[in-house]
Amino acid sequence: MSKPRPKQKSKGASGTEKRMLIKCPYQDCTDGMVKGMFGSRSECATCNGSGLVDAETGEPLPDQEIIRQLLIRYQEQKWQIYELKKCLTEQSARLAQYEQDERGR
Ligand SMILES: [Zn+2]
Repeated sequence: MSKPRPKQKSKGASGTEKRMLIKCPYQDCTDGMVKGMFGSRSECATCNGSGLVDAETGEPLPDQEIIRQLLIRYQEQKWQIYELKKCLTEQSARLAQYEQDERGR
C-alpha cells in the first residue's frame, strides 16, 4: 500500500534560487495581456498576466515568486551596470593618464 506522497518540492522552493523563465507560450499573449473581442484587454490565463512561465514546468509562477525572480534579475543587472561603470571609470582614468604622459613628453 502506498501513501500518496507529498508533492516533491524542487530545490528552489525556498525562493532564493534563480529559476529559468521563458516567455509565455500562448500565441496571443503580449507581456501577459491578451487582446479580447472589441479591443478589450485581459490578463493571460496561461502566464497569470506576468508574460512569463517556468521554463521547466511551463506553469505560471505565483505572484510572490515571480516578483522574487524578477528581483534576482534586477540585482544582477544592477551589478552588471556597476561593473561596467567601474570599468569605464578605470578606462577613462587610464586614458587621462596616458594623455598627460604624452603631453609631458
Ligand atoms: Zn501569457
